[in-house]
Amino acid sequence: MIPVASPVLSGMEKAYVAECIDSTWISSAGKFIGKFEAAFAALCGSEYAVACNNGTTALHLALAAVGIGPGDEVIVPTLTYIATANAVRYCGATPVFADSEPDTLNVDPTDVKRKITERTKAIIPVHLYGHPADMTALMNIADEHGLTVIEDAAEAHGAEVDGRRVGSIGHMGVFSFFGNKIVTTGEGGAVTTDDPDLAARLRLLRGQGMDPKRRYWFPEVGYNYRMTNIAAAIGLAQLEQFDAFVARRDEIGALYDEHLADVEGLALPIQRPDARRVHWLYTISVEDFTDAQRDQLIEALHTDGVETRPVFYPLHVMPPYLEETRYPVAEHRGATGISLPTHVGLSDHDIHEVCEKLMRHLAIVRAVQA
Ligand SMILES: *Cc1c(COP(=O)(O)O)cnc(C)c1O
Repeated sequence: MIPVASPVLSGMEKAYVAECIDSTWISSAGKFIGKFEAAFAALCGSEYAVACNNGTTALHLALAAVGIGPGDEVIVPTLTYIATANAVRYCGATPVFADSEPDTLNVDPTDVKRKITERTKAIIPVHLYGHPADMTALMNIADEHGLTVIEDAAEAHGAEVDGRRVGSIGHMGVFSFFGNKIVTTGEGGAVTTDDPDLAARLRLLRGQGMDPKRRYWFPEVGYNYRMTNIAAAIGLAQLEQFDAFVARRDEIGALYDEHLADVEGLALPIQRPDARRVHWLYTISVEDFTDAQRDQLIEALHTDGVETRPVFYPLHVMPPYLEETRYPVAEHRGATGISLPTHVGLSDHDIHEVCEKLMRHLAIVRAVQA
């Protein structure tokens, strides 16, 4: 089976983890945490990175740091991973959905603008599958209305807009280091920012709200969202290989482009002129398929040894967020999209095999339907 994602841990991961164990620094103090935070901030071109235990808690910390609470609205794309909206709910605030752009799958700034009310406090653009959201338009809208922008960059480590790395463009950036992301720590996350006060708030909230100048004095309710030294050790080793990871993912994207360019009815991933995308998951859309046909294709590929995954179901069709409102672009892309295997461990031959099988089963599903 060719997996859709798989971590590569062939650098210093094992040696650094062994160092944690040999030194007994296995909990959330130890030298790797600071090193990982500094290296990750540098990678993003941000002043600060605050590491935490996953991407979802990173989102929660970012929202809590700016005081998002009951009565507040936060605009998020409906086409995203559920964590983006769940974190808003954790704060007692309301996620307000916006539709997507058909080419990048990212939130449509025009629809974001339409959704602003007097209760709107923040926008969370998501850089879906590695292509940055239209940050220029979104920052303009946010400036005009005095809104906080938290980039959900969980899928886009190293992507850029006009030469600026994602995570350093909004007021804060949020990353995940789950096992299938471009950089992994097993489970892990981080919030990036250039603002020293926000960085201090994030650290305070991450560590149970403890006063940094007075041990075991808690002036407010915080969380235990700390990253372990072991996770940071894995992450530091991953960051040492980051350029090679992104370069190999670029090659994989180019190979898919080459093999699939002439296949009728497929929409392939694009790259806007002002953007530098990364390939987290190479995601295509079978434009004329129904969701049932798309699911048949995924099933046939699975039986034939290729794991793929459907594009996210839009959040407004999920029970906790159900709405009558239609979001036509997100619904269409959610129904027709498929993410193909994309990870550093894949050979050129693997990509060739995935494409051959994809084309074969695409033709069969089409023929059955006709
Ligand atoms: C992975 C992901 C997250 C959450 O990360 P976890 O580390 O799994 O909690 C948030 N948003 C998006 C868009 C993601 O892909």
